[in-house]
Amino acid sequence: MEEFLRKHLTFLTSFWNKIHPSHLPSNCSLGFFDPEAVSLQPDLDSNPELPDISLVSVLYDFTARGMDELSVQRGDKLSIIKEDGEYVLARRLSGELAMGYVPANYVAKIDRETASSNWYFSGITRNEAQLLLVSPPNCHGSFLIRDSESSPGEYSLSVRNHTKINHFRICKGPSGSLCIQQGHTFPSLEELLTFYMVNWKVIQSPLLQPCIRKRTPEKDEWERPRSEFMLRRKLGEGYFGEVWEGVWKNTLPVAIKVMKQADMRAEDFTKEIQNLKSLKHDKLIKLYAVCSMGEPLYIVTELMRKGNLQSYLSSAEGKELRTVCLIDITCQVADGMTYLEEQHVVHRDLAARNILVGNNLICKIADFGLARILKDDVYSTRGDTKIPVKWTAPEAANYRTYSSKSDVWSYGILLYEVFTYGQCPYEGMTNQETIQQITQGYRLPRPVTCSPNIYCTMLECWSVNPEDRPSFLDLREKLYSIYRRLQHSLS
Ligand code: AMP
Repeated sequence: MEEFLRKHLTFLTSFWNKIHPSHLPSNCSLGFFDPEAVSLQPDLDSNPELPDISLVSVLYDFTARGMDELSVQRGDKLSIIKEDGEYVLARRLSGELAMGYVPANYVAKIDRETASSNWYFSGITRNEAQLLLVSPPNCHGSFLIRDSESSPGEYSLSVRNHTKINHFRICKGPSGSLCIQQGHTFPSLEELLTFYMVNWKVIQSPLLQPCIRKRTPEKDEWERPRSEFMLRRKLGEGYFGEVWEGVWKNTLPVAIKVMKQADMRAEDFTKEIQNLKSLKHDKLIKLYAVCSMGEPLYIVTELMRKGNLQSYLSSAEGKELRTVCLIDITCQVADGMTYLEEQHVVHRDLAARNILVGNNLICKIADFGLARILKDDVYSTRGDTKIPVKWTAPEAANYRTYSSKSDVWSYGILLYEVFTYGQCPYEGMTNQETIQQITQGYRLPRPVTCSPNIYCTMLECWSVNPEDRPSFLDLREKLYSIYRRLQHSLS
């Protein structure tokens, strides 16, 4: 019987493992919990000293109003560090590992088993569930459990019955027991599902297979067929794959970033692309389209003819730029970064190589937030990996605490790059030596083309304490006023 159930109800594997532990692999201590599925940090799970961390799912979007709060989106999964009156101190479990306070009534507890189950769809609405279940490859008998919209902390079961979708409220009793109908209570969602799979006639909806998650391209105006794009010329290569100059529908010149899914966490990729779609500013590279069906992924953006700022500054044309033009560039970057700061988006890799230059010295920020979607081993601080140490604030390099203030540190390095016409910072030092020197108080010297007041700003960006660094708003004001004064004196 056990074999039969295992074979036919494979999506309940974790449940079978729990009641028949002999099937667990010998090295698996928490066999029914797959940490990868909720992107938990591996060290959280491997530390036997840690207490059982409570997991919650975010029910409503929340925008942080101060440094101590955490901006979250419906469907995010968080671990609770502390309950504090009407707030909880929570840590994000995927993407940027930020931590902060969130209103307690914006989150609902979930257990680890549920979080890692393929039938649990965190953060989707009744309408979205309906749309997913009616879309192929889902069919008669496809089902899912989601957070209830009207009753926070409770769940709903949505089942496709031929062409109709039925929704059943799963109520929670005071002791935490779960039930769809009075008289049938269960200690867990898995056990509730097992019962209704066998006794489906009670709800007149057979539960045959968990809903298959899929992206719905027809819903997404950004998603375009790959055939609309033609790759013409390779422009460069970065951490995120190759970048090509191409054309869209044989007419519009575009830049196409060609990325391998293997280098990314799928759920972070989706979230991050959402970020790219929602961020709009004159000084940010404009996203045109995405091809995310199949491999490789294409991210299509506006084409910046003069390439990245670092190469541009060291080119013959760049070397001709006068100081006023250099200040203009720094103002444009500060402008775009002020917008990201307001949106609570941390760039994590601000550097001249990630600023793109167009005609008339137009500069735009690229790759904002993309560092978050790379798998840890690509962008980790461990070993001699690709973390841009010379641009990274000490607290970010050492403890991975990224914030707008760590971006400000990087902006200080970018100022140095601009005023040295693209020189590599800390030239001749290894990453290790740079960290050592910075810790001992060493700071880059003033470039000859840089005025003392701008150098003073650079030094402020490199304050040890992130709080002592200026905001991007301050930087923008300061640099613009220097720029205006200089222009005035030249005219
Ligand atoms: P990335 O992977 O973003 O670091 O890009 C690698 C290189 O491709 C950059 O350093 C640029 O030289 C070039 N590149 C990236 N995006 C664009 C774009 N939108 N327009 C022109 N060149 C680009």
